[in-house]
Amino acid sequence: MSQPNPFQQGPYGPPQQRPSFPPGPGRPYAHPPDPNQPRPPPGNQAPPPPSPAQFRPQQRPLGQPGPHGGPVAGLMTPGAGVRGPSPAPGFRPAQPTDGPRPMGAPMGPGFRPHMQQGPVIQPGQPMTPLAGSAPLHAQPPAELRQPSPAIRPALGTPLAGQQPIRPLADAPRPTPQSPPQPGGHAVPNGFPTPQHSPPQTPRPLPASGPASGPGTPPGGTPVDNITQQFGGMNVNAAARASTRARRVYAPPGGPGSEGQGPQQFPPGPTPGMPPTPGMPPTPGALGPAFQQPQQPPYHGMPGPGMQTGPQPPTPYGQQPPAPSYGQPPAGVPPVPMQHQTSSPNFAQMPAGRPYQQNAPYPQNNGYGAGALAGRQYGGRGSMDIGQGGPGGSRARIDPNQIPSPIVVQENDQATYDQSAFYTKSQAQPPLASTSFTAVDDGNSNPRFMRLTTYTFPCTDELSTLTAIPLGAIIQPLADLGNGEEPIETVDYGEKGPVRCNRCRAYINPGFLYIEGGRKFRCNLCSFDNDVPVDQFVNLDMSGHRLDWERHPELRKGTVEFVATGEYCARKPESASYVFAIDVTWTAVQSGMLAKCAQAIWELLYSGEKGLPQGAKVGFLTFDKAIHFYNLKATLEQPQMLVVPDIDDIFVPLQAGFLVDPYESRPVIENLLKSLPSIFEGNRISEPLLGAAVQAAYAAMKDRGGKLCLFQTGLPLTGPGALKNREDAKLLGTDKERALYEPQEYFWTKLGQDCATAGICVDLYLFPSAYTDVATIGALSALTGGDIYNYINFDVNRDGQRFVGDVKRSLSRSFGYDALLRIRVSTGLKVAEYFGNFYMRNATDIELAGLDSSKAVGIALRHDGKLDEKADTSIQAALLYTTASGQRRIRVHNISVPNTTLLGNVFRSADMDTTMNYLAKAAVAQTVNVPIRTVRGQLEEKCIKILTAYRKHAASSTSPGQLILPESFKLYPLYNLCLLKNKAFRADAISSDVRVHSMRVLKSLSVPDSIALLYPRMIPLHVLQDALGEPDERGRIRLPSAIRTSVDRLETNGAYLIENGHQMCIWLGRGISVDFLRAVFGVEALEAIDVRMRNLLPLDNPIARKVQNVIRRVQSERSRYLQMQIVRQEIDQQLEVEFRSLLVEDENVHNSSYVDYLCNVHRSAMKYILVTGGVISGIGKGVIASSTGLLLRTHGLKVTSIKIDPYLNIDAGTLSPLDHGEVFVLDDGGEVDLDLGNYERFLDITLTRDNNITTGKIYKSVIERERKGDYLGKTVQVVPHITDAIQEWVERVAHIPVDASGEEPDVCIIELGGTVGDIESAPFVEAMRQFQFRVGHENFCLIHVSLVPVVGSVGEQKTKPTQSSIRDLRGLGLSPDLIACRSSVSLQPDVQQKISMFCHVPTEHVLAVEDCNSVYHVPLLLHRQGLLTVLEKRLGIVRRSEPSSVSLFEKWKQLTTRYDRLHDTVRIVLVGKYTHLKDSYISVVKALEHASLSCNRKLVIDWVEASDLETETLKVDPIKYHDAWKVLVGAAGILVPGGFGNRGTEGKIAAAKWARENKIPYLGICLGMQIAVIEYARHVCGLEGANSAELTADPAHPVVIYMPEISKTHLGGTMRLGDRYTHFTDASVGSITRQLYGNANHVHERHRHRYEVNPKYVKQLEEAGLSFIGHDEKGERMIITELKGHPFFVGTQYHPEYKTRPLKPTPVFLGFILASSGLLPEYLESMKDPSASTLLGRYPSLAEELVSQLSQATLDDKKDAKDTADSNASA
Ligand SMILES: [Zn+2]
Repeated sequence: MSQPNPFQQGPYGPPQQRPSFPPGPGRPYAHPPDPNQPRPPPGNQAPPPPSPAQFRPQQRPLGQPGPHGGPVAGLMTPGAGVRGPSPAPGFRPAQPTDGPRPMGAPMGPGFRPHMQQGPVIQPGQPMTPLAGSAPLHAQPPAELRQPSPAIRPALGTPLAGQQPIRPLADAPRPTPQSPPQPGGHAVPNGFPTPQHSPPQTPRPLPASGPASGPGTPPGGTPVDNITQQFGGMNVNAAARASTRARRVYAPPGGPGSEGQGPQQFPPGPTPGMPPTPGMPPTPGALGPAFQQPQQPPYHGMPGPGMQTGPQPPTPYGQQPPAPSYGQPPAGVPPVPMQHQTSSPNFAQMPAGRPYQQNAPYPQNNGYGAGALAGRQYGGRGSMDIGQGGPGGSRARIDPNQIPSPIVVQENDQATYDQSAFYTKSQAQPPLASTSFTAVDDGNSNPRFMRLTTYTFPCTDELSTLTAIPLGAIIQPLADLGNGEEPIETVDYGEKGPVRCNRCRAYINPGFLYIEGGRKFRCNLCSFDNDVPVDQFVNLDMSGHRLDWERHPELRKGTVEFVATGEYCARKPESASYVFAIDVTWTAVQSGMLAKCAQAIWELLYSGEKGLPQGAKVGFLTFDKAIHFYNLKATLEQPQMLVVPDIDDIFVPLQAGFLVDPYESRPVIENLLKSLPSIFEGNRISEPLLGAAVQAAYAAMKDRGGKLCLFQTGLPLTGPGALKNREDAKLLGTDKERALYEPQEYFWTKLGQDCATAGICVDLYLFPSAYTDVATIGALSALTGGDIYNYINFDVNRDGQRFVGDVKRSLSRSFGYDALLRIRVSTGLKVAEYFGNFYMRNATDIELAGLDSSKAVGIALRHDGKLDEKADTSIQAALLYTTASGQRRIRVHNISVPNTTLLGNVFRSADMDTTMNYLAKAAVAQTVNVPIRTVRGQLEEKCIKILTAYRKHAASSTSPGQLILPESFKLYPLYNLCLLKNKAFRADAISSDVRVHSMRVLKSLSVPDSIALLYPRMIPLHVLQDALGEPDERGRIRLPSAIRTSVDRLETNGAYLIENGHQMCIWLGRGISVDFLRAVFGVEALEAIDVRMRNLLPLDNPIARKVQNVIRRVQSERSRYLQMQIVRQEIDQQLEVEFRSLLVEDENVHNSSYVDYLCNVHRSAMKYILVTGGVISGIGKGVIASSTGLLLRTHGLKVTSIKIDPYLNIDAGTLSPLDHGEVFVLDDGGEVDLDLGNYERFLDITLTRDNNITTGKIYKSVIERERKGDYLGKTVQVVPHITDAIQEWVERVAHIPVDASGEEPDVCIIELGGTVGDIESAPFVEAMRQFQFRVGHENFCLIHVSLVPVVGSVGEQKTKPTQSSIRDLRGLGLSPDLIACRSSVSLQPDVQQKISMFCHVPTEHVLAVEDCNSVYHVPLLLHRQGLLTVLEKRLGIVRRSEPSSVSLFEKWKQLTTRYDRLHDTVRIVLVGKYTHLKDSYISVVKALEHASLSCNRKLVIDWVEASDLETETLKVDPIKYHDAWKVLVGAAGILVPGGFGNRGTEGKIAAAKWARENKIPYLGICLGMQIAVIEYARHVCGLEGANSAELTADPAHPVVIYMPEISKTHLGGTMRLGDRYTHFTDASVGSITRQLYGNANHVHERHRHRYEVNPKYVKQLEEAGLSFIGHDEKGERMIITELKGHPFFVGTQYHPEYKTRPLKPTPVFLGFILASSGLLPEYLESMKDPSASTLLGRYPSLAEELVSQLSQATLDDKKDAKDTADSNASA
């Protein structure tokens, strides 16, 4: 202790040399002296792993704990393991006199590496510097600072000795036939298949290539697919393509048909046979599955899928023969492939490709066209999921009929077995699962970059319509395939590669040389760059540079440039690998440490592919202290240097830490062998991971490289200490996602530091409990590393996998210190990046390390329009250092065409890439929204894409069918598989596992993701003939995979299943003894040891083949696959895990494939039918719209259809007296007032078609009959009228009704009248059929009935309800819910009685008593669980739209406000039909909404206009005086629209009163005309001024007939529907315009014939009445306003039609405000929306309006249509 501790001087204190470890007795830890010990030969002989026992020093006192329980590292202070009392925290050189101490002795240097002469470090003594080493840190040794670059080339990089290609001018011309570049990739430059000989030379013109080449795919040349689709498609192909699109089958039936097992298809009754009305469906019976649902049988059409005309009954695709074509009867599987065997292409197929075996519906094969051709001309979906015909019950889907990934993948594989893929000339790449050979002829190999679609939509709108995301998955260092040419390296010398001067893009084949070669145009930013003079070369005829062929960067999609000095922040060096190993008690006891040592040994010295040449390795171990190891080759033994002061991390050595593993092999082997024994007795259980990473960072920060961390548990202490925050209660809740974020910034910061320093961190975790992968995993997530998670590590179970993982991971080609930059063509931008990396700015992806298996995703968005004639280019440039120490820029380029045709986007879409993209994007979402929402989004996306296809790309299909695009037909399956991934599963999964899965997905490559999503299952008991043997290329032939479903397993079979992460071999109970004996060497299943990880090397053909298959499978995956045996029924625990891999089955809380497909289909549209019983007018409309509102609060889009069983074509001709108000829609439709109810409640804009009347239906049927559409049949109510009704409903239900333009999710159909009426019978029958047409799960019936209260005691009577339900049932409709209208709330026993007598559950009986207002009804229904019932009944998925979440709250506030109002506002309505208030319902609603939003209680006084006339004074003076009394008491006077002349004079008198007494006046339509007449008479002095409508030939016709001649709008005599009104100059400062937020124009609905006479306008305006709103031509006066009056406004339009409870229409709001005296304040507040609040004590809607309106003003700049939409939207 007398020596000063140098480390107290600071972190950079002088390093100390350690004296040699003294030899001699009492060296308890010394390994047997072994400088000369024979070492394992360097060859590939794999010695037995060093077992702890083997290396245990003999003299070591075992298990003798130190004073602190651990034989801790030697250099601890006394009291090892904790910072002892000793003041010397550092280490000191061992004094010879110290002598070695036995492990566990109090001073115990718990460990001494078995060194004979190494320095020993003793506690409490400062350490002397290492012999010969320079002082640490202060002056690092020069050799470490300036290491010489290593020599070994990296994979795919130019190899040693290769002549780099010189810059353009003087490059030596490489001979095309030149052998492949020397070095690692000595692959033949060509293709191994004999039948295919691709060009050996770079082909001069990509376009001329493959079409003429021998390597064309069978059945068609890989020419531009568009040509093939439209130009080259022959008739047969067309027929096939269209045939393929129409196979229809039914979804599973109800409970009765469940469990019947697969049914052969098509079964059942004769297709097309109409059901007998009223006959209930036979449970389990099979429907006419082939019948086109909407296709009436009497069409005489041939049945299934044939609606577009007769087509050859080909067995094409998955289409089974149609029975009506005389094909084999139902139940006989189609006999496929007669063509196939005769096809020369298939004849060349290797034997043993049993297409038929598991693929009863081979898809493209029948034409010898192969999958590629199929995809090209197909494009159109291959299957529909239809429903059984009306009345027919639904058959269970035969799993064989749904798209199979096996067939798709095998077809694709077959194509590329025959031919290579030419990257530029062929449109779409092979499937990700296909093993192919790519020829780079201008685009990057798909291994490097794949796009979600290979034709880009020109505009954002088009892109949105397709719903297919635009993105790319880039795997920059992917391994090349067999027979592919290595990437060429281009060296531009000092100047560096040619780049665009504007966007800095690298030279690529897309650069267009112009002006004779003096300039080139950048394909990314279109900038014209000058070609430097010294690089100028003339162009040839085709515009290429003459030296084109010599420059791979002008020919190839992928090249590498040698990076010049400016690309190097520091001198590139070969990669260094540091292993930081946890050596705590757990690590030792679990066997992890020993396995770890073994893994590293095998990696380095087993002779297999190991670390890249030139790599350096370093070791450190940690428990409570950090132990560095000096491994200098000159040492005999490794030296351990302990840094116990974890608060002050430094690197105690420099020179010997990173060493060449081959030079230092003896020392390293020594260390690895002894590590387990050194720490064998270690009792420390808290690994200081944070400190260890800091230490490694300190050691590596100057050169970067790979850090492998081996860690057992949560770091509970030390830097970055973490706490166990996982709480099972959080799982599955919204708070769960907090667990996905790092809990300590320490780790994020450390990860960022490592990323910046180019240190890539791989984590190997061996947790027995929560380890917080989210937090410590940030190290890997930010640095591009991997995480391996061995939960409850069991050395027997997981040891081999761990060793395999280490070897796989570290022997992959590796680049580090990398920067990835993506450039895309003008018009697109990269919107988002997905993956494990760090971004300090918005464009550069920093990848500390990157290996061949890692991929990065990008999301692309439009920021402009793409040129249809140009291509879209994407360039990914990766600047990185190869593992061997060369700085390179690897540039991947791809360019694809643009299109304005939506179908092209679908046709070129790549589903594999899209799935990978969606997975990555979904992972990115998990930090923002709960998993549940992410799942919902994934499902929604699926439905959106498929719906978009059906809507825009598929031809002539029923809206009820789901049609899968050919390229996306596996999408539902893969989407389901993604939902079953641990990252997104619905069940509670520990956050560690979930986060780990997410991180894996984030960097997963496309092929790996497909393997992971859909596991591969290979039967092993069928290895006959050549299966399992190598083919001519040396590849093991695999049996055809089978679909991953338990239904496919045979109990006498053996199956291998793997997903790239797990591999199981499942052995059926009935497996033959021969197989067991041959493969396992046992006689019975029970005798197999399931812990075996390798098959016994038995020498018989079967065993060999099985082993071959396993080996091939293992070699194909980027992770090591460890074998797990699972025996049927014996290993039940393991079988659970095995079953979870069977993704087509129902498991892991997700449905089966079949069910999911039906679900996807179901999700298309839900129908809720509302019928009424007992009497009409009991509030069906309110209940229906309230139901819709509640669904809207769950984010669903709701539309509605009102059926009125009267014969009028529309309500326009109905007298308001008879039928209440005529409601006018935007499109001018005059409809039932209930539609107004829907518009108001649901905040939607309906069309006239949303109102069905008997008249409309009959009219359409009669018109069709006249056209001869019914082919001479007798046209009848059933089926023709009923079919027409159903078609109408289906068509209208899909019309978007809100501003989003998206299809609704739910359609509410209100059937007017009461059930049992003669009028409604056809509709009831149509709905009865409709429930089968759309499926039980999509159809729900709410019956609104009446429970009258009678007698003095108020008895509630259920009889009427029972009887009306009976009527309903008798007509074939069963109510799901019964809404009981009653004046008082329903008594519980009454509810139960109804439940019992009407056969519905009690909770399905809803009590709807009279409420304060209709606004209360939704709340009333909500309280009774209506939503829950509906969600369950219809399987509705709640959507996640934040705005809708608050909708319910807003609504609640509205009703609260309604109940609390006490300030009243008294409005007088002067009208004509005042005794029938229904005829003014919209006006009343508008007044009500406006009053509510100003917190005023509305009181309406109805005044019959004629009562105000002097005539009445004569006849009935009391009436007259009463009327005037009411009028003069009004706070506001409203004159609504109306027809006829009765009461005109009274209205004029009212207007005069309002004007003269400054009472707020609002005149609507006629009311405005009245105001004008009044003004003309009394102010302008135009005696006799009147309306031409009211009197014939008035003296001054100030209102005249001005019909609008419109071809597009019905009723050409009337201005109807939405019209444009433009504010005039005079409107500036007017109240009305301010109320509209100072908009320039408004859209409101009109319904009038008479208008203000333009001739009088000037005169009126001069007298003070301004017309501030005109129509578009300025001819019609739309808005009038009197200046200087508090509110005197007239509008020719009807603003009341657009009022909403939560958004009153501005004119009415202003009127009510003025009547309440609040208008000036309100207008003031509009000028400054931030200023608050005038309208009372509740949060005021009016205030919200202010902000909405200021938004509307902005929108004003857009075109008129936009504004209309925004007004209509919420
Ligand atoms: Zn550019």
